[in-house]
Amino acid sequence: MTVRETSPREALQRQRAGALLLDVREPFEHATGMAAGAIALPREQVAQRIAQVAPDRNSEILTICAHGQRSLMAAQVLQQLGYGNVASVAGGTAQWIADGLPMAEADNEDADFFERYSRHLRLSEVGEAGQRKLEDARVVIVGAGGLGSPAAFYLAAAGVGTLVLADHDAVDRSNLQRQILHTDARIGMSKVHSAAHALTALNPRTQVMGLTERVTSDNVEDLLEGADVVLDGADNFPVRYLLNDACVKLQKPLVYGAVHRFEGQVSVFDAGRRRGAAPCYRCLFPQPPPPEAAPNCSEAGVLGVLPGVIGMLQATEVLKLILGLGEPLSGRLLMFDALPMRFRETRLAPDPECPVCAPGKAFPGYVDYEEFCTG
Ligand SMILES: [Zn+2]
Repeated sequence: MTVRETSPREALQRQRAGALLLDVREPFEHATGMAAGAIALPREQVAQRIAQVAPDRNSEILTICAHGQRSLMAAQVLQQLGYGNVASVAGGTAQWIADGLPMAEADNEDADFFERYSRHLRLSEVGEAGQRKLEDARVVIVGAGGLGSPAAFYLAAAGVGTLVLADHDAVDRSNLQRQILHTDARIGMSKVHSAAHALTALNPRTQVMGLTERVTSDNVEDLLEGADVVLDGADNFPVRYLLNDACVKLQKPLVYGAVHRFEGQVSVFDAGRRRGAAPCYRCLFPQPPPPEAAPNCSEAGVLGVLPGVIGMLQATEVLKLILGLGEPLSGRLLMFDALPMRFRETRLAPDPECPVCAPGKAFPGYVDYEEFCTG
């Protein structure tokens, strides 16, 4: 059954005479507007939903897409369903615009959403439902430094609705070699405020909240309130153990990252939600090392790109956890060595004797370890 085609100009006249103009493009294609008066019904939903839009099979229906290909297919589907008076608009919305015919402005809020996230929306694994999940998500990032910078940038860009940043430091010139959220002009400003500048400029849809105090056992639970995922970008032992214990207690997934010189590592600790099935950080290292053995002092030095690599792996895990995609890095420790450019992975099993996450074990209370070195 061949489909009749009509020019945009003729379609406009038919529409004014009462024909139904059906825009069969995907929602993310509406960002630049739709033919005035058209009703949006994506092609895959035509068969399923046309009866709601046009219950009368004798009604005249004109289909329009971007360039006139998909509208032909949609018209064919309509004919197969018994709609007798159907035509496809040749050249689609592009020709409609070229002919100077009236357009309906897309709703601004929606237009921003669909245009900004169009590359996510084209992934069937994300789609509009996934993007809305990201928009509803709240991610806590502890540390707006080397790891937190790339992670926060990409999570804001990806459309995470609320980012809560915690950092008590101010921007220092020596940070700028790797902490890309900050700028030379913002030296001396609190890192949280500097980060909020950068993130809001990138994506005004993301709400940035901040804590400019040191994270301790007194404020950690308030900080994690409502969080869907927690990202440890502080890379120091007191915060690492505190976040681990809080995430086990509050049943939140923790995305861990650490860097040292030319090497880094990343993992997901999900023992809070999966007691006995997934490990926590204390399953690996029940106690912090003695201060003199602590390797992560700022004096040790780090290649500037290293926290970029690790922070972005952390951000990837955060997005996967929110979207429920793929296989999280839970129960695995991924190690990266920049010099030979090599990734290695080791399995991590939960410790049935773990002081914090062993099943049935009562929460032992928080410990505020002393900070061994600053930065
Ligand atoms: Zn554990």
